[in-house]
Amino acid sequence: MKEARFYKAEKNNSVKCFLCGHNCLINENQPGICNVRVNKGGKLYSFNYGYPVMQNIDPVEKIPLFHFMPGSLTYSLGNFGCNFKCDNCQNYSISQMENINERVEKADFVMPERIIEEAIGNDCQSVAYLKSEPTVNCEYALDIMRLAHANGLKNIWVSNGFMSKDCLSAILPYLDAVNVDLKSMDTDFYQHNCSAKLKPVLENLKILKQEQVHLEISTHIIPTLSDDSDMLCELAEFIAVELDADTPWHLAKFYPDLSWKLKNLPITGEDSIYQAYEIGKDAGLKYVYVGNIPGDQKENTYCPKCDELAIRRLGYNIERFDNNGRCVYCDRSLDIIE
Ligand code: SF4
Repeated sequence: MKEARFYKAEKNNSVKCFLCGHNCLINENQPGICNVRVNKGGKLYSFNYGYPVMQNIDPVEKIPLFHFMPGSLTYSLGNFGCNFKCDNCQNYSISQMENINERVEKADFVMPERIIEEAIGNDCQSVAYLKSEPTVNCEYALDIMRLAHANGLKNIWVSNGFMSKDCLSAILPYLDAVNVDLKSMDTDFYQHNCSAKLKPVLENLKILKQEQVHLEISTHIIPTLSDDSDMLCELAEFIAVELDADTPWHLAKFYPDLSWKLKNLPITGEDSIYQAYEIGKDAGLKYVYVGNIPGDQKENTYCPKCDELAIRRLGYNIERFDNNGRCVYCDRSLDIIE
């Protein structure tokens, strides 16, 4: 266990964690909502520091990030625990696992230095913190992120965007790219489906953009819960107006069989994905991508100015027709970080 950052002592040996928007008040011997930070003797500890649950070498397209170092490999790192309780979660076996401390006790400790060695040794150009929310394992992520930069690697987060401003300030100097799951614009959806709040996510998205972190957005289109066209219009407008029309928007299908609690809902129909795609385009977004429809041309990148093909995607393989991130026909920037 490692003593946590981002907390303060309160009365009667309780502590207040301010790592994310929940601001948990945690009594002695109790964990916070995320289940991986626990109060022991009036101090808060992160008990999964150094115990990643998953390490993989992945194409960066799998994140998904389509405009950040296309075609490169990233060293993916997943950890237990999450500060959201999404009914549709597809990683619930690690994000919502109970008795995580027992599992951690049997695992091997992995030094941050070892992660960097593995990433470099496997020709990765970045380290990606994903699968469940990296915020709740921020201390470990930060130690790796510092080392990554010192060794010429980039850092990528896949996040729900619900971290506190203190957490965001701590990671910003080391964060190069992020895919934020903006699930809905409906506050009730965030409350009932995720046991969380929407407003901090929207605020953090604006900060990430202002701070010039490379940002891409993902949205799962869940039948009856997040497929309403008015809501999706509002969401696309938010990206276009409050962030930037050049921000890529990824649309993903919902799979009931993989979900934690929504097994009674149908799989997302392709017509719903295509409708959301048109909504994004109508809002002026330059790069909208349909997911989980193999071989669909709407997974490709086209020049926003002359509409010529710039990057063709088949699965996670890419074929590039651009000129160092610019359209070969009209020279417009394709908003790509190489
Ligand atoms: S990180 Fe965990 S303990 Fe801290 S406020 Fe968020 S949910 Fe609570």
